[in-house]
Amino acid sequence: MIIDVNKLKQQGKTEESFTFEFVPARQLLDLPEASIEGCVRVNAYVRLSGKDLYSEGEAVFTVKGECSRCLEAAAVEVTVPFEAQFSLLSGADYPIKAGLADLTPAVEEAIITGSPMVIYCKDDCKGFCPNCGVNLNKSKCNCKN
Ligand SMILES: [Zn+2]
Ligand SMILES: [Zn+2]
Repeated sequence: MIIDVNKLKQQGKTEESFTFEFVPARQLLDLPEASIEGCVRVNAYVRLSGKDLYSEGEAVFTVKGECSRCLEAAAVEVTVPFEAQFSLLSGADYPIKAGLADLTPAVEEAIITGSPMVIYCKDDCKGFCPNCGVNLNKSKCNCKN
């Protein structure tokens, strides 16, 4: 999502809230066998502060993959907050180039660092019995402990 900083200024605005969606072009999850299902929905807020543009918001998306406990299919909705300061200064992490600020890399960075390391098919997934390997969601075993 590209923010036209000059246009904001021309319209006399100092802040704006909006939503957008995008499909990540690369793998953002540090989770084996998992991927983002469909698009990432972003609720964003931007504010001009001096020559900089401050942005914050949240990204909401569905992670689909294997349950980290029982390896059955799992899908969970994840919300990741993000925050970024866009600057005209060269060498800035998030630059404003030709009056434009691209929010997508900042959102992607937040997803990379803020996504869960594990997902579960359900909150109370019992996983496997460490002794006999039975999937305890599906059947009981006779092991003690
Ligand atoms: Zn499970
Ligand atoms: Zn067992």
